[in-house]
Amino acid sequence: MLTVDALNKTYDGKGRRVEAIGDVSFSVADGEFVSVVGPSGCGKTTLLRCIAGLLAPTSGEVFVEGKKVTGPPDGLAVVFQEYGRSLFPWLRVADNVDLPLRAAGMSKTERGVLAAEALESVGLGDAHSAYPWQLSGGMQQRVAIARAIAYQPRVLLMDEPFAAVDAQTRADLEDLIRSVWQRLGVTLVFVTHDIDESVYLGQRVIMLSSSPTTVAEDLRIDLPAERDQLTTRSDPRFTELRGQVYEQIQKAKQERS
Ligand code: ADP
Ligand code: MG
Repeated sequence: MLTVDALNKTYDGKGRRVEAIGDVSFSVADGEFVSVVGPSGCGKTTLLRCIAGLLAPTSGEVFVEGKKVTGPPDGLAVVFQEYGRSLFPWLRVADNVDLPLRAAGMSKTERGVLAAEALESVGLGDAHSAYPWQLSGGMQQRVAIARAIAYQPRVLLMDEPFAAVDAQTRADLEDLIRSVWQRLGVTLVFVTHDIDESVYLGQRVIMLSSSPTTVAEDLRIDLPAERDQLTTRSDPRFTELRGQVYEQIQKAKQERS
């Protein structure tokens, strides 16, 4: 569904050259939920922007559904970290969700159904006519998630989407995203710097080293598919996997310094 092949991204500013991504390769199967975890500044956002066709790689290639990415691919949606900046403050919630559907040329009836379903599925069935700034941070991020799923993407990329919400909201949103994923069968790449979150959410965790970034390890998360905050997080296997990810990331950091 998604292949990243020998990706390198070097930012070339005036007199300042940053090799953000050194050499990254991995594949994601259709319907898989993959977490990508790595320290701050290791190039996670850069990687997602290259996959989303928003940034051209310096070398290497990205393929989505077998097609080389040269611009934003059809059937791919992104949820960014800064929900505050990704929603249009002058548009009501329903119109924010409607925007990409309209851009995709869907009929008004179809758009109405998809937007209502998506808002319902994130628990915002009542918030259609509110403005984003009237909502809490967690609710705004749910609007951004609704907008992404209303578009019915086959690939969904999320860039630290819960980094700016409180812990309780974050736990709720984590469970929301797992249930959305299970229901839609979408291929999901979830970027986070939070080791616990990466293990709790994913079927696989791809660990990145510090810049210039490489894949430090690619670990299968063999926790049961039915997960919940209490049972899963107190499962001894969860602790073991979290330890493995932590160790690997520490090692990758030391090798670089
Ligand atoms: P992360 O999302 O993992 O925190 P980023 O992808 O944002 O990492 O950044 C990776 C590295 O690339 C950092 O060193 C950052 O300073 C640098 N960087 C990111 N964007 C740019 C840019 N537009 N120009 C120059 N350097 C950049
Ligand atoms: Mg980032």
